[in-house]
Formats: sequence, C-alpha cells, structure tokens
Amino acid sequence: MNIHEYQSKAILKRYGVPVPNGKPAFTVEEAVAVAQELNSPVTVVKAQIHAGGRGKAGGVKLAKNLDEVKNYATELLGKILVTHQTGADGKKVNRLLIEEGSNIKKEFYLGFVVDRTTARVVMMGSEEGGVEIEKVAAERPEKIFREYIDPAVGLMPFQATRIAYKMNFPAAAIRKATAFILKLYSVFIGEDCSQVEINPLVVTAEDDVIALDAKLNFDDSALFRHPDIEALRDETEEDAKERTAAKEGLSYVNLGGNVACMVNGAGLAMATVDILKHYGGEPANFLDVGGDSTPEKIATAFKIMLDGGQAKGIFVNIFGGINRCDAVAAGIVEAAKIISEDGKSLPVPVVVRLEGTNVEEGRQILKDSPIANVIMAPTMEDGAKEVVRLVNEA
Ligand code: GDP
Ligand code: MN
Repeated sequence: MNIHEYQSKAILKRYGVPVPNGKPAFTVEEAVAVAQELNSPVTVVKAQIHAGGRGKAGGVKLAKNLDEVKNYATELLGKILVTHQTGADGKKVNRLLIEEGSNIKKEFYLGFVVDRTTARVVMMGSEEGGVEIEKVAAERPEKIFREYIDPAVGLMPFQATRIAYKMNFPAAAIRKATAFILKLYSVFIGEDCSQVEINPLVVTAEDDVIALDAKLNFDDSALFRHPDIEALRDETEEDAKERTAAKEGLSYVNLGGNVACMVNGAGLAMATVDILKHYGGEPANFLDVGGDSTPEKIATAFKIMLDGGQAKGIFVNIFGGINRCDAVAAGIVEAAKIISEDGKSLPVPVVVRLEGTNVEEGRQILKDSPIANVIMAPTMEDGAKEVVRLVNEA
C-alpha cells in the first residue's frame, strides 16, 4: 500500500527523522493559510499524487510570496499531472503539501527495500540524488552503495557511518547523516514497510540533513497490525477494479491491456500473462481466482474484467486441482446470466481452456449452455493464440 508524501513525512517526524515544516492543503485558501503560518522566505507548493517525477512534470513549485502560493495552488489543484511514473493518463491533483523552502547544498539518494535474493533488507545510498535512481543504476552503477542488513541484529551503526562516508557527505554532516540513516531504518521495521525511499535527502547550507521527499510503501500482509496506516488509504489514487477485487477476495492486478485472463494459481496466472504477451497480445490483468471458486466468485471476476469496456477478449485458463472445472464452467454460465439480459451472450469472446478435476463435466456444461461466444481450446497455447487473434482482429 502506498501513501502520500505529506503522510510519509508525518510518520518520519514521529521517528525523529528531520523533515521540513509543512502541512497539507486541499483548497487554495488552505494553501495560503498554511504558507502564512509558515512565514518562510520561500514556500514550496507540492502536488500530492501517488507517483514520483513530479518535479520534472511541473508539480513542485517554489513561491516567493503569498500571491505566488495562491497562483501555484490554483494552477495545481484539479490539474492532471503526467509524470514518467503515472502513465499517459496522468493523475489528478486533489491535495497539496505546503512546505517551507530549504537551502539545498547537495541532494542525495537513500532507500531501503527487501532484497529477495539475499532475503534481507538492503540499504542503498548515492550522492547522485534528486534524479531517477534507475538512471543512476544504469549509467553509473559504481555510484550506488549497498549495505545488507542482518535481520537478527538490525542495521549496525558502523554500517550507517560506512555508507555515509561512501556517499560523500560533507564532514560536518556525517554524524547527522548516520543518525538520520539509523532512524529511517527504524521506520522501515517499525511500520512494516516494503520500501522506504528518500530522494532527495539533502544537506542544507547549515549542514543539516533532512528528507525533502519521502516515499513509504507498506507490506499489505502486515497492514492488519497498522490500522492507523490503513486509515491513510486514498481510494482516489487506487485502481477501482483492484479495489473491488480485493474486497471480493480475488487477487487482481490491472495491467492496462485489452486481453483479460482468469486463471487459478498465481504461477499459472503469471505464465498466462507471459504467453499472451508472447503471442502479441496486451494482457489486461493478472487474475488468480484461487482454489475455492464458487460460480458467484467467477461471475464477479467476469464483471471486474468487463467493467469499463477494458477487455476485448477473455482467456479462461484453468487447471482444476482443488478447483473443479465444472464449478468454473457453471460460473461462466452464471456470469452470462448476470451480465446479459437473456443469459445467451457475453460482450466479448471468451476462450476457455479447461484441464484437470471434473474436466468432462465442465466441458459439457459449456457445450449445453446457450452462450454463443464461448470457444473451447484444447491447450493453453492454442487458447492464448486464439484469444489474441480474436482481439487483434476485432
Ligand atoms: P519528485 O520529482 O516527485 O520526486 O518530487 P521531489 O519532492 O523529489 O522534488 C523534486 C525536486 O524539487 C527536488 O529534487 C528538489 O530539487 C526540488 N525541491 C523540492 N523541495 C525543494 C525546496 O524546499 N527547495 C528547493 N530549492 N528545491 C526543492
Ligand atoms: Mn523525489
């Protein structure tokens, strides 16, 4: 789960990580009122969306007086901001962060993430801050330093100092940087984060070390023990289909394409996305209906896939183990009943590959059903090819 920058900074502050003074604003009047209260020679007006790259896209403005704060707030609120992380549709700005300006001497990058290979939290730091870290990693990988953290002892102070030296903090800021790094790690552990990224972390003209930007990501599986974080959820930033699916107990990820798929098992679902792509299709989603699919659950999955006209074709790829093929077939028939008035057609072609438990019963249910546009495929490969062909011809 993702939260906004201003929410992340409030959490950092609780852990003693230095952040600039500031407050969120939802209207132009609030923005001006916050700026007035801050009474800083430079006020930063920052668009709050769940995506980075705002600086380059014009979502971070420096105002020298209250009139400028008012103008920038007016310009940004309601604007669709398109950054390299939002996709072409962009994201609408509904909130701002109004902050006192900082006197930046140098920008750094600092991040914590779970490294799956070593099964440890890894800390990454670079003096090439303020720019996309992916770019630094590609062009100047020697500029990124790492410390792997032993879960039994946690981040050791010597590791924090070592990376601070490697990152080339000015001598006067090394101690502050070390303290900053250790506190940031306690945020990661204390809040069950999956990612913590400060870009830029800055050293000011006064040699203070502060987080100028903050991105916290939380482990969804641990949210049950952080109701205060769950409460920060901004549903307007989340995919409507993913939200509905989560409420219905379906593992659904919107991938933006037009060939939908409904699969049982995460591994098979990933393989299905791959094979659709391999045959020239654009997968609309990852969808694992799980092992306990009732006809109702299958019908819900169909509704989600078809919502908004995103899917131009659906590939049902089921290997019946715990799931029974007849229940899946009955679900498709049920879905047609719910979606179309007469129960005889689905709005897009549906290619079905069934294999495993009760496969004959499943196939028979579909054969006997009045639905016109269900096509049976003998194998996964045939099914993938067929659905991509149908979608690309449509
Ligand atoms: P992002 O582009 O979405 O990652 O947004 P950031 O919060 O990282 O801001 C982008 C850039 O704006 C930073 O790298 C800074 O160079 C600049 N910036 C942000 N806050 C301030 C500030 O208080 N003072 C100055 N001078 N620049 C700032
Ligand atoms: Mn940033």
